[in-house]
Amino acid sequence: MDFKVVERSPFARIARMVLKSSNVAMVLGKTIHLSGVSRDTFLKDEGWLAHELCHIRQFREHGFFRFLWLYLKESWRVGYYNNKFEVEARLEGMKHRRHLNPSQKAASAITPTEAPLPIDTKRTE
Ligand SMILES: [Zn+2]
Repeated sequence: MDFKVVERSPFARIARMVLKSSNVAMVLGKTIHLSGVSRDTFLKDEGWLAHELCHIRQFREHGFFRFLWLYLKESWRVGYYNNKFEVEARLEGMKHRRHLNPSQKAASAITPTEAPLPIDTKRTE
């Protein structure tokens, strides 16, 4: 898939400060904006990468502004965690994890932040 990764993105940094997360990956169009995580660490994290690539596909399928609108509406309706776009991305991100034990699974969980945009954070112990 055609995508770009921006390390130390000012957009992601603002989101990270506002949301008080230790790291964020934020997808806008076909660009993944990172803050608090290096490009290498992110790209090596198969589950996280698959999750964010799913958001890129959603942007492409629905169109830039239309997807932002649908994402926002969905979050208002069912909340961030149950947002169908996050559910889809979460499933994408879990495909490689079948071989992991429950504690490894918990440690690799990617969670959406409470933002009206596809911005995710990786929980760290
Ligand atoms: Zn997400």
